[in-house]
Amino acid sequence: MKPVLPLFIMVDACGWEIVRNDPFAKSFAPTRKKLGSVFGYSSTCVPSILSGRWPDEHRNWCYFVYDPVRSPFRSLRWLKWLPTAVTSRRIFRRWLTKFVKVQLKFRGYFDLYNIPFKYIHLFDFTEKKSPLQPEGMNRGPNIFDFLTQNRIPYFVTDTSQSEESNRDALIASIESERIDFAFQYWAGLDGLLHTVGNQSEQVPAKLRVYEQWIEQVLQAARGHYEEVKLYIFSDHGMANCDEYLDLKAKIDALPLRMGVDYAVVFDSTMARFWFFNDQARQLITKTLQEVPEGRILPEAELREHRAYFDDGYFGELIFLVREGVLIVPSHMGERPIRAMHGYHPTDPQSYATLFTNQPSIPDDITHIPHIYRLMENAARERIRDRPPA
Ligand SMILES: [Zn+2]
Repeated sequence: MKPVLPLFIMVDACGWEIVRNDPFAKSFAPTRKKLGSVFGYSSTCVPSILSGRWPDEHRNWCYFVYDPVRSPFRSLRWLKWLPTAVTSRRIFRRWLTKFVKVQLKFRGYFDLYNIPFKYIHLFDFTEKKSPLQPEGMNRGPNIFDFLTQNRIPYFVTDTSQSEESNRDALIASIESERIDFAFQYWAGLDGLLHTVGNQSEQVPAKLRVYEQWIEQVLQAARGHYEEVKLYIFSDHGMANCDEYLDLKAKIDALPLRMGVDYAVVFDSTMARFWFFNDQARQLITKTLQEVPEGRILPEAELREHRAYFDDGYFGELIFLVREGVLIVPSHMGERPIRAMHGYHPTDPQSYATLFTNQPSIPDDITHIPHIYRLMENAARERIRDRPPA
């Protein structure tokens, strides 16, 4: 029997609005709190949780950036000669994504999404390492560096495996009493919400499944640990998309050349621009100012949300749409999806959750990067309680 297991379970996209009126996890984690998220997608929310730092500190923000000098994709340029009927097919993209990931030795999450092969040599991909591993951040350490340096044996999700196999692997680690810390990351709810939206009956059904799984994990832990410090949380929420914006058509219609006058990445809720001359900057700025579905984020606001980058690395101009609007087609997808996240962090559906079996959550835990502090404190206690060697 071991003394304490700190158990951190991240349920991707389990936003505050999704579970506000649902009893999710109440029986074993009754202390609940609404948390502010971080501006960006999971590509920045998850690293912020794992490091306790903000995008302008860890520089894990959006996936694709304009960086032709460092682009690892130059060898893919010939694919532009293939017909779009082939290259825009999701199945072709998925196969190619796997192939490229192995070729380029990327260790994190990787997807070519819908980046046109005509321009792919202009872009770099910013998550070459896995934030779920030690030394996995673009800048600075994460919780796995802390655990490794302090020789605390831990469980972490293997994202190449299914949710069920990760559940079973966690239970096996608990039963072997091999671990003193666990970080479980379940991504299935996020995928479901993107497809069916946040009002579908499939959402509470999925939450009931997670409850059963957590109950199984707790059941195993009761036999091997005197106490479990349980934290269940999310990285962001999910908004239904009821309006589509073809921003690409508006930009393509301008007398400007992509890659010569400007560069752009169309994310699904943001467009990020780099300018190579004043005319491009003026024309694009003016065009965006006339798009009612969104707005250009001022520097002060980006700074306030800790997503302003002095060197313009992720874009010199950030255009963000209103909650519920989807940029489509985008470099993330050719076709509409039912729901999306990555809107303004103060939009209603952006807020995240934190549920625990502890009696209270400290007042200074208000945003998802603060979850790191809970993890580090729980890990420090494991060091302090360690029997002398
Ligand atoms: Zn998602």
